Amino acid sequence: MVRMSTEFEPVIGLEVHIQLSTESKMYSTAKARLHHEASVAEEPVNANTTPVCAGHPGTLPVVNKKAVEYAVMAGLATHCKINTTSVFARKHYFYPDLPKGYQISQFDQPLCEHGFLDIEWKDEKSGQECTKRIGITRIHMEEDAGKNVHLSGFSLVNLNRAGVPLIEVVSEPDFRSAEEAGAYLRKLYAIVTTLGVCDGNLQEGNFRCDANVSIRPVGQEKFGTRAEIKNVNSFRFVEKAIEVEIERQKAVISSGQKVIQETRLYDSAKNTTVSMRAKEEADDYRYFPDPDLPPLVLSNEDIETLRKRIPELPDQKRDRFVTEYGLSRYDATVITGDQTWSQLFEAAVKRAPNDAKTISNLLTGEVARLVKDREGGLATTHLKAEHLSDLSLAIAQKIVSVTAAKHVIAVVLDSGESALATIDRLGLKQVNDTGAIETMVDQVIAHNPKQTEEFRAGKDKLLGFFVGQVMKAMGGKGNPAMIQEIVIKKLKS
Ligand code: ADP
Ligand code: MG
Repeated sequence: MVRMSTEFEPVIGLEVHIQLSTESKMYSTAKARLHHEASVAEEPVNANTTPVCAGHPGTLPVVNKKAVEYAVMAGLATHCKINTTSVFARKHYFYPDLPKGYQISQFDQPLCEHGFLDIEWKDEKSGQECTKRIGITRIHMEEDAGKNVHLSGFSLVNLNRAGVPLIEVVSEPDFRSAEEAGAYLRKLYAIVTTLGVCDGNLQEGNFRCDANVSIRPVGQEKFGTRAEIKNVNSFRFVEKAIEVEIERQKAVISSGQKVIQETRLYDSAKNTTVSMRAKEEADDYRYFPDPDLPPLVLSNEDIETLRKRIPELPDQKRDRFVTEYGLSRYDATVITGDQTWSQLFEAAVKRAPNDAKTISNLLTGEVARLVKDREGGLATTHLKAEHLSDLSLAIAQKIVSVTAAKHVIAVVLDSGESALATIDRLGLKQVNDTGAIETMVDQVIAHNPKQTEEFRAGKDKLLGFFVGQVMKAMGGKGNPAMIQEIVIKKLKS
């Protein structure tokens, strides 16, 4: 008997925890961060705590107004319905980093519901540009827990982070690939950093993701059993974690076993997911409305006031870049996907208003390639708007070739030196001297009699060969348009 191998389809839903960049904590006056410039690890242990964060009996929580405003803005920017009444609930679990014995979250009456977000990405195989609308189930407010530090034989607890305000953005299980999940995370990140409600520090876990992954036979409507991969704080790692988890589940099912519902961790060094614990049932948490906090009531007027505070969002910015600067939709998507990028682009175009297209090409090509695997991305480089505008002007004035400009970018990204000084120092000025180019073309023709004959006989494809040879002989500094023109002139006349 021949057994047909079943084709599986992944189903993915994401829960994203976003730290709100308020001065104080969610329910207490303790500072959310002692020093905004310093990393969390540098902060003195347990320095920013109050009796509320430490869960002392008799203390009472007070809701942070700024955090509510930020959460509403995030909801509006993701097309959510903002509930004028929402309820804070206790989510009970025992862990030393949560001294109260419960986290104050929201449960059946969250602040925001029924939103969506449009994502776009380029299919790796076909190169096709794709778009999709992803449903957002809810956004609720909650507080972070502290941190346990395990040493040999004993453990310590640091409550600096306990009570820091978070929103949790829960998506519908609408993703069908790791790529789609990555596109969603990047878009959501661009939105909350543009809003200014999150500082976007990925290394410190201020934007982190739990990925729920299941698979089902293609054509089956019912979802399979999901595993939840906890707390991944890099977009590329989320994508990789989802990919390996899909493969793991396929292998489990192919070997006749069942996927079990559990929490897993992603090990980036080994590129695998490992089981952490069997999933607690939701009712283990014994959610109930927190009697210390009244329901959160907002007027429609409050909501409209906050709507007015929303700046130009990535999607609007993308559309404007297409109409204002003539960029392709895809390039505009890439550049507006991150504020650092769009600000750099606009500052460069301000200095070189006729070169938007060249600046966009340098950014989406060479710069994107160079910072792809760089932790912290573009913001950690020395690239400035002047570099891009100077280079695009130099290309337009035929001072450098595009190839040389790319080389300059790679250098100034780390050095910060000016583009023109770098061109000088590395001797990258383009040769536009007809006589010098003619001499080189003559030499190349003399050295390649066979190709010369073939080209003259009509093998036009060889034009690239000749241009390439001349360019090579000139150390990459020849003006390519002039070389091409002179090769044609000499060989076809
Ligand atoms: P919990 O809070 O217990 O993790 P939720 O029902 O709130 O459970 O779901 C959490 C996330 O899991 C949501 O993003 C949802 O879209 C996703 N999800 C639910 N069922 C599945 C499934 N079978 N496969 C993949 N993702 C799922
Ligand atoms: Mg969950």
